[in-house]
Amino acid sequence: QGKAYQFMMRTRQPAGVVSNALYLVMDDLADQYGNGTLRLTTRQTYQLHGILKGDLKKVFSSVINVMGSTLGACGDVNRNVMGPPAPFKNRPEYRYAEQYANDMADLFAPQSGAYYDVWLDGQKFMSSTRENPEVTKARADNSFGTNFPDSAEPIYGSQFLPRKFKIAITVPGDNSIDLYTNDVGVIVMCDDAGHLQGFNLVVGGGMGRTHRNNDTFPHLAVPIGYVPKEDLFYALKAILATQRDYGRRDDRKQARLKYLVHGWGIEKFRNVTEQYYGKKFEESKPLPPWEFRTYLGWMEQGDGKYAYGISVENGRLKGAMKVALREVIEKYHLTVRLTGNQDIILCDIDQFWKEDILNILGAAGVADVSEVDGLVVNSMACPAMPLCGLAIGEAERGLPGINGRLRTLMTKCGLKDESFVIRMTGCPNGCARPYMAEVGFVCDGPNSYQIWLAGCPNQTRLAEAYAERVKVKDLESFFEPLFYFYKSRKTDGETFGDFCHRVGFEVLRKYQEIYVPP
Ligand code: SF4
Repeated sequence: QGKAYQFMMRTRQPAGVVSNALYLVMDDLADQYGNGTLRLTTRQTYQLHGILKGDLKKVFSSVINVMGSTLGACGDVNRNVMGPPAPFKNRPEYRYAEQYANDMADLFAPQSGAYYDVWLDGQKFMSSTRENPEVTKARADNSFGTNFPDSAEPIYGSQFLPRKFKIAITVPGDNSIDLYTNDVGVIVMCDDAGHLQGFNLVVGGGMGRTHRNNDTFPHLAVPIGYVPKEDLFYALKAILATQRDYGRRDDRKQARLKYLVHGWGIEKFRNVTEQYYGKKFEESKPLPPWEFRTYLGWMEQGDGKYAYGISVENGRLKGAMKVALREVIEKYHLTVRLTGNQDIILCDIDQFWKEDILNILGAAGVADVSEVDGLVVNSMACPAMPLCGLAIGEAERGLPGINGRLRTLMTKCGLKDESFVIRMTGCPNGCARPYMAEVGFVCDGPNSYQIWLAGCPNQTRLAEAYAERVKVKDLESFFEPLFYFYKSRKTDGETFGDFCHRVGFEVLRKYQEIYVPP
């Protein structure tokens, strides 16, 4: 008898949209073949942990048969395309973002039939949602730039990419999806009447790094320019092909697009990309300030229906919450959106169902966002131990206790009503994007964390490493001086991350040194 190998399955959900049928199937699969829980990821997908090798085919084919997919969710290809989970039907810019998230996912989906050979015994699955003909045309049309291979993979070629590739799309002002942490960020640009004109593009974002290797670092995406709407797919192909051909393949730790953009500088990267694009990028259009939007609580969809966003601690759906969510989603045939903050939005709710839905959720202890601690609402953790083989410590299992301890300490320091963005990962790969947090915990040894400070609430500034090997048992003595300092010196409305950034690490460290408890 062979070993009982177990696997994790990750789905592909452009912009986090989940059909009613797929939700119910995922819920069943978690119980029948997984570990009884479902995980909502930081890229708006599901992860199903604990699938035994012998059950893989049944699980994958079940997902594909309800129009779900896992194609491109892992590997050195384009990963899940993120988009704002906004359920507003009367906001054309959001509908464009959702449509283009799907189109970009299709454009960069691997074309070989291997996926269906493996999971459906070669039976080609006929999707009812036909691919946008513009996508099909753009994938095949290599008449403009250079260097697109004549192969079964017209964009990836035979070697695929040096490393994973991540795209997010959003609308001006809405940074619910951590735009600048992606290899490519796409911003929908409409005219005043809501008609799509084109897209601003940013390139070269990424989080992963390695402890004690300063050649690895988190990096924010930088503007490369603007493209008219009809050119988007061609510009994206050009960016991806530049990374395909020039990204490093000899060292996986240097293989992400961010190292190419950083090493070359954006001017050279733009010039080389334009040779593939066959055109010049236009100057980026002006943008309003970014806001981090959580999409929690009740929202009007603009079509007479309602949506209700629910905070899911660290994205882990389990126990009574999982049962209650299934009940209301099944009973009222709801669709669902997953957010980039590991939360869930129930959509298409009739006003007459609201009371019953709240009763069912309330009986299961599912709290409205107004009753959840802001630290929990704004925090994220990766799965880490025992589910990720790369973890060197806790994240998902450790963060709830640490959030509670920080709240107790903040109350003691006169910060009862304050909250900030906290993110924790079990290794420096940074899957929960800790380098964008106001307080980031990155495990760096047994029960110890590197502490990153000075990110900002709208996720547009990188945090910096402030301290190494801070033991979990010492967190109160570590943070108490910082919290008192913040309380006494913050300006009106200044958040903890902005305060740390303004004051600077030298002053923070000095204050920690001379601090005498009250
Ligand atoms: Fe695993 Fe590290 Fe990613 Fe956490 S950050 S899920 S420990 S690879």
